[in-house]
Amino acid sequence: MQDDTQKQLANALKARKALEDTYEAQFKILAQFVSRLSLACKGVDVDLDNRLAKLRTELNRGTDLEKLLPFIEATSDNLKLLESRHQADIQSMQQGLADAGKLLQQQKGLPDQLRRDLRLLLGKVGQPSATVHAFLPHLTELTKLYQNVLQAKQQLANSDDDDDVRYGHICRQISVELTNLLSELAFAEESAAEIDEIRLSLLGKLPIDALLEACLKTIGIIISSINRERQSAEHFLLKLNDALTSVQQSVVSSLSASTDLKQKMLVLNQQIELQIDHLSHVSQKATSLEQLKLLVSDKLTAITGSLREKEQLEQQERQQLLLTLGSMEQRLGELETDAGTFKKRIAEQNFRSLQDALTEIPNRAAFDERYQLEIKRWQRYKKPLCVVLADVDHFKNINDSYGHSAGDKTLKVIAKTLKLNLRETDFIARYGGEEFIMLFPETELAELEKRLNALREKIGKIPFKFKNVNVPITISFGATRFTEQDTNRSAFDRADEALYEAKKAGRDKVILKPAS
Ligand code: GH3
Ligand code: MG
Ligand code: MG
Repeated sequence: MQDDTQKQLANALKARKALEDTYEAQFKILAQFVSRLSLACKGVDVDLDNRLAKLRTELNRGTDLEKLLPFIEATSDNLKLLESRHQADIQSMQQGLADAGKLLQQQKGLPDQLRRDLRLLLGKVGQPSATVHAFLPHLTELTKLYQNVLQAKQQLANSDDDDDVRYGHICRQISVELTNLLSELAFAEESAAEIDEIRLSLLGKLPIDALLEACLKTIGIIISSINRERQSAEHFLLKLNDALTSVQQSVVSSLSASTDLKQKMLVLNQQIELQIDHLSHVSQKATSLEQLKLLVSDKLTAITGSLREKEQLEQQERQQLLLTLGSMEQRLGELETDAGTFKKRIAEQNFRSLQDALTEIPNRAAFDERYQLEIKRWQRYKKPLCVVLADVDHFKNINDSYGHSAGDKTLKVIAKTLKLNLRETDFIARYGGEEFIMLFPETELAELEKRLNALREKIGKIPFKFKNVNVPITISFGATRFTEQDTNRSAFDRADEALYEAKKAGRDKVILKPAS
């Protein structure tokens, strides 16, 4: 009987140790969980990053689970805030779109199909949705464009012959701007074919109604891109919230389980103590050995029973903890996969929204960004900075004689040639149509002239061949140097004037225009 009790005691001690080990493992996993979680969603939101970093520090410090709860709750609140910010963004975008759409609806004489498209589109705009910041500038731009078309349309309605020429010009300008916008939208991969179709339709001659239709289609593409993006962002936020909730739940349940266990253990320990007390008490009163044996045997049975119960309780608790650990591990795995996809999407989107789809070199938005940066650098170090505009000569002829796809291929080859012959620190972007813009930091005009002439000759020597005819293609450059008095606009304008002079002087030329 005594052996049995000793065995039970040893078992109870073992169970206790195992339980403590499991607790420690759970704490470690929790710390790991949070640190992987914060890595996974780093960059989604600054506040969220900070909160998770704090939580990580506390966990590594071994802070009590009870004290961690407020941290976890604050992080959850952060996520909710993130959601509501998304909501606010979308509301302002929806308003802008709805306003533009209503303005168009008020127009008289719209073709039926256009009117139907518009009604459909406005229906879509009204639907509840959320957005990603990257789309907002496109939409604002488009809304403006749209209003321009409307104005042109109204003026066209009461114009004479002279005005026809003028509005033809305005329409062309609008179509160029819309084309640029479309090339910036090229990251909406799922709509690539549709974008291409609109782009092609803009290359031909455009009646104003067709322009309006192109605008509407573009809005449609932007909206479906937004919806796709919203779904992916929402999905991710939901998962993130899920993961945090599971951390929170596991902390709460370990806390309550351990309080519960402590309570039960306390009762059991008291019982055991009482039994032992009672045993020593009655043993003193025993009058015969037989009687003592009986008493001891009785009491030991009771003590063994309590010890067994204690061991079982601890086993049970351990099972429960292991279960929570398992589910946390699984959640973590799912979340990491999801965060990976989400981050990849964001990175790709950022990259594509700055790249020209046709030529795969940076686009105008990327140029604007880089120009700002180079000007700042210029202000700090005062090293020379040159701005260059390049425009393919008589490019319209290529489209007219050999078709647009020949024109597209030509642009690709020219962009590639220009890019390949620049230095690492130089910058080139497609400014729109057949125009390119370049930045040359730390380059003096005299040296630049040599380099641009070399580029010009290189382009002239590309053996273009269409329909079995050799077609030499040339390019003109206008260049200037950034000066103390310049704004980004004034330096650009000077390069543009230089380009105009190069065209006037017969094309296939490099013209430099230092500040006067
Ligand atoms: P210049 O020497 O004076 O520059 O003459 P140009 O014909 O090159 O100039 P213009 O501005 O009159 O015509 C440019 C043409 O480029 C008009 C447009 O159809 C064409 N274009 C613009 N973007 C694209 C494009 O992405 N693909 C193709 N194939 N053509 C384009
Ligand atoms: Mg041009
Ligand atoms: Mg040209």
